[in-house]
Amino acid sequence: MGQGGEAPAQTTQETRVAALRQAFQERFGEAPRFVSRAPGRVNLIGEHTDYNGGFVFPVAINRTVLMAVAGPEAGATPGEVRIISKEYDRESVFNLNNLEKAPEAERWTNYVRGVAWALGQRGLLDPATLSGARIMLESDVPQGAGLSSSAALEIATALALFQLAGTPAASLNRAKIALACQLAENGFVGANTGIMDQFISALGQPDSALLIDTRSLEYRAVPLGFADRGLKLVAVNSAVPHRHDTGGYNQRRAECEEAARYLAQVYGKPENSQLRDFTLEQLLGVQGKLAPTPFKRARHVITEDARTLKTVEILERGFAHESDLSTFGRLLRESHESMRLDFEITVPEVDLLVELAWNQPGVVGARMTGGGFGGCTVNVVEEKALDAFSEQVWQKYRQETGLDARMYIFDAVEGGSILE
Ligand code: ADP
Ligand code: MG
Repeated sequence: MGQGGEAPAQTTQETRVAALRQAFQERFGEAPRFVSRAPGRVNLIGEHTDYNGGFVFPVAINRTVLMAVAGPEAGATPGEVRIISKEYDRESVFNLNNLEKAPEAERWTNYVRGVAWALGQRGLLDPATLSGARIMLESDVPQGAGLSSSAALEIATALALFQLAGTPAASLNRAKIALACQLAENGFVGANTGIMDQFISALGQPDSALLIDTRSLEYRAVPLGFADRGLKLVAVNSAVPHRHDTGGYNQRRAECEEAARYLAQVYGKPENSQLRDFTLEQLLGVQGKLAPTPFKRARHVITEDARTLKTVEILERGFAHESDLSTFGRLLRESHESMRLDFEITVPEVDLLVELAWNQPGVVGARMTGGGFGGCTVNVVEEKALDAFSEQVWQKYRQETGLDARMYIFDAVEGGSILE
């Protein structure tokens, strides 16, 4: 790929696993028993719909957390877990019989501790029945870029704990595990997130995106068919860090709830109705009466749900109609415009990135992906146009912002797994 914009060359999973096994051996003096892996994700379309009972359509990507695992050292305290991440290079120790929050310097281990805690809370696996563990992990999911390094870490942890308990991965209820991992993030780490990230990391399918109904939690894999059409999925990181704990996210949630409450009153629906329950026609029926801000927020959510289902329809018929590819691109573009104008969660740098992509030959579509206020764009690009895309977008972005965009080319991969 082009100069500069290219993210560090991807080594194959095999190479990474071998290096991790070696490092584990050097550190702990014996080989790991197994390696668990779980992917990050990129959301193709369906943004800020998850807390409105709507639809999301993410892809599990070939950027993963790898976790080498063995039981405890002979003579170790029962329940003791020693864990080290290549990222932080400092061992943390905690006990499965007494799961407490980590000291600040080891804050990242709360994702691991939290999963052990949450599996116990949900009655899926009692952490106290495990004798302990030694864990070394490594990840090529960039952190804080909106590609969900945290969910990958959680799902890899959950699969590892079940493997230690002797439960075969094939017998697991992955939806329940994803829900427990969400509880870990909400209730132990303390981050207010929806169910999308854990679901896709646990349940992703190769060459597919996953349509998730975030209300019923029904889901189905939808083949992307990109390989047949010479298309690639590319994420571009704006290098504007996404600001998780800003008020923006909570404020959007509150505005959506306000709109849903108002609509429920007007149309005589139950009080706990969500934006999912209303049509665009119903929303337009209260234009001028519902305050402008919640009106715009609701318009984004309701139209975004429709765009998501339309995208699924196009992919499921395999781009059979002549106009399908351009309609797909238009839906991605409209999704971005809706986030920019109605939901107001984009920043100028990210708007610039999608505009550069739209103006680039061989780009089917592009939009911001993730929570917003920075982060990544997702782009569907013809394989033969990739070099020019990365060079041109990187250069022009650099010229206008002084920032270095980072490019990631993705394949859609399967969800978490155990590598024996
Ligand atoms: P995102 O999920 O979008 O990447 P989050 O803020 O939700 O961003 O999660 C990032 C956090 O997850 C990091 O701050 C760290 O605590 C934890 N984490 C992710 N990857 C690793 C890793 N390889 N090693 C240790 N901790 C990690
Ligand atoms: Mg996260």
